[in-house]
Amino acid sequence: MKVLVLGAGQLARMMSLAGAPLNISISAYDVNTDSIVHPLTQQALGKGLANAIADADVVTAEFEHISIPVLAHCQASGKFYPGETAIKTGGDRRLEKQLLTDAAVNSAAYHIVKTEADFTQAISTLGLPLVFKSALAGYDGKGQWRLKTAEQAASLWQELATFLAADSKQAIVAEQFIPFQREVSLVGARDTAGNIVVYPLTENHHVNGVLSVSLAIAGNTALQQQAQQMFTAVAEKLSYVGVLAIEFFDVDGQLLVNEIAPRVHNSGHWTQQGADTCQFEQHLRAVTGLPLGSTTLVRPTLMVNILGEDHVPDAILAIPGVKLHWYGKTKRAGRKMGHINLSAATTAELKQRFSQLINLLPESAFPELSQMLNRLH
Ligand code: AMP
Repeated sequence: MKVLVLGAGQLARMMSLAGAPLNISISAYDVNTDSIVHPLTQQALGKGLANAIADADVVTAEFEHISIPVLAHCQASGKFYPGETAIKTGGDRRLEKQLLTDAAVNSAAYHIVKTEADFTQAISTLGLPLVFKSALAGYDGKGQWRLKTAEQAASLWQELATFLAADSKQAIVAEQFIPFQREVSLVGARDTAGNIVVYPLTENHHVNGVLSVSLAIAGNTALQQQAQQMFTAVAEKLSYVGVLAIEFFDVDGQLLVNEIAPRVHNSGHWTQQGADTCQFEQHLRAVTGLPLGSTTLVRPTLMVNILGEDHVPDAILAIPGVKLHWYGKTKRAGRKMGHINLSAATTAELKQRFSQLINLLPESAFPELSQMLNRLH
């Protein structure tokens, strides 16, 4: 089976590693260079996108910021999962908010801002504080502004007006600020027959808007059921096929969707070691028409992102349950360079191993890890 992935980053790379045992071979479309590359070596494979689409049995995506003509071309092939609508929705916060409304799933109240009148209307209808997010090309907290007091409104509008003037397709989604206790996410999959499986919820800790640590939360709790019901509503509304991730704010046990990702997700990397079937294999199963795999949490597991570093002490590999994954990328400040998965037989053992890991990692490059340590009981 040959699968073409739109996007050639670490997610395509990990799909390739997961697909090999199933005889699924992956080629990747590098959006920046408009070329087809090998997802592990990044070597150009010397064929254009049209040939790659024609050659592939299935086309999928690991990245939602893909040009409209490319999406249309893939859709016309009849073998694109989860398809044009899902990818566009994940890449445009206006469509995403409309989807959540249509699926009757709770999220922060919002108002779309293109003009100063919209901006004033957003403040008067939603109240302060507010979070403003770019509709297109936003990720990891980039393209975001906060408005806490009315005094700051005029200067913020100047900034937003400049931003909007630079691109006529751009818009801003103004959202009520949610005073959440924590952020959680649910990764799951839907197959072509409409079967749905979900993994246990993951608790996520962000630093400066970027994911730092994810911890799988065991147990079939009310929160898990709530998330699963919202996942099902969104996946069915999109007639989704593949792995889908939904990020939530947890406000006193009530979930509000923050955003959806129509792809495998950073907060699901722990499944490589902690679940019966990892999210990368699961996605390939769903899009190639294979039966979905078990999502059971097999051992307590967490994941730590390696951001902006191309080296970690070798000694971490001496800790039982540590698995190190590098993405083979060139070092850049804050860039997702790799991750560490950590598992144990019990939560107490995970806590003890995590503490060992924290002691070996430099605090400057891995800040706030102990906040998640304190969440482990
Ligand atoms: P996003 O890129 O939408 O995931 O936002 C990045 C981070 O900003 C989130 O992980 C939250 O910590 C925070 N954030 C986003 N939207 C809101 C909101 N409406 N209220 C409070 N915090 C938010």
